[in-house]
Amino acid sequence: MKILGEILRKFPKVDLHCHIDGSIRVETIFDIMKGKTDLPCDNPKDLAKYVHVSSDCRSLTDFLSKFEFFYPYLKDPAVMERITYELAEDAAKENIRYFEARFAPCLQKSGQYSQEDILKGVLRGAERATSHFGVKVGVILCVYRGTALEEWEETVSLAERYFGKGVVGIDLAGDESKYSARPFKQIFGRARSRGIHITVHAGEAWNWNSVREAVDLLHAERIGHGIKISENDVFFERIKQLQKPLEICVTSNVHTGAVRSYDEHPLREFYRRGIRTTINTDDRGVSNIDLTHEWRIAQEKCGLELEDVLDMNMNSCEAAFLPPGEKTALKEEIQKETRGLMSEIEKNKK
Ligand SMILES: [Zn+2]
Repeated sequence: MKILGEILRKFPKVDLHCHIDGSIRVETIFDIMKGKTDLPCDNPKDLAKYVHVSSDCRSLTDFLSKFEFFYPYLKDPAVMERITYELAEDAAKENIRYFEARFAPCLQKSGQYSQEDILKGVLRGAERATSHFGVKVGVILCVYRGTALEEWEETVSLAERYFGKGVVGIDLAGDESKYSARPFKQIFGRARSRGIHITVHAGEAWNWNSVREAVDLLHAERIGHGIKISENDVFFERIKQLQKPLEICVTSNVHTGAVRSYDEHPLREFYRRGIRTTINTDDRGVSNIDLTHEWRIAQEKCGLELEDVLDMNMNSCEAAFLPPGEKTALKEEIQKETRGLMSEIEKNKK
């Protein structure tokens, strides 16, 4: 069965791969840049084209250029508090019950604010949003490929200090084609020994071997994207046997040119062949999407049925970086509400 209408918005959802900076609202960018720079227009509506990629964007360079426009204005704890809060508000509006929000503190610190200052802003925004909207937020700190060792140290130390106090894990982000995961082995090993969860961006723009490094060297529990695993049959089987969850972000992959088109996206093939796939947004502000859009795209353009999407939503629950008790509660809540909606749909059919 395919469900593409408004009711899709009501289904309880989980998003595991969502960048706070890339999820900013255009109106907010307008507000925070106003008065600090010469804006190319005098209203948020006209600013949209500087923030959103066009729907036919197929280039990583074009995709990243959108970030360059507003990124310098995000180096402020109050701004990050606002963006995190608003992101959670947007998530709650489409019934996302739990999401993991990530950002790179090393790229957002400044002469004025430390990595920790920025994180505190994010955590304040997340806490406020949870109390106002009921949506639960787990924060993931991105260590960045191509930055200095001291930055990795600082980010991982922060994760250690705030683990269980809003932070759930660390991620490795940045250019995988230029920077191997190998130098991060030791520091990720340290985080792992403290129980901090690990996800790694790999196999998005680069090859299957990048995913292998993430799994074998960094012991990633999940892979961000991982779409290149099909380049190597033996490794593909291994990922399947390990039941390693992939954080798939379909529209983002199309916009960055990681895949050529929606039709060529491997989500359906991976799912059918037994890979543990999940559906996520990545950068909802830049791609101008939400998770409901991605659930719709999965059915409309990737050849999946609603039941498959719901199954992947349960994969997301299972792969969430939550303590076991909270995970069980989330799964039960989502299953119950989903059953309720499905029977509503069945009833309306008759
Ligand atoms: Zn990402």
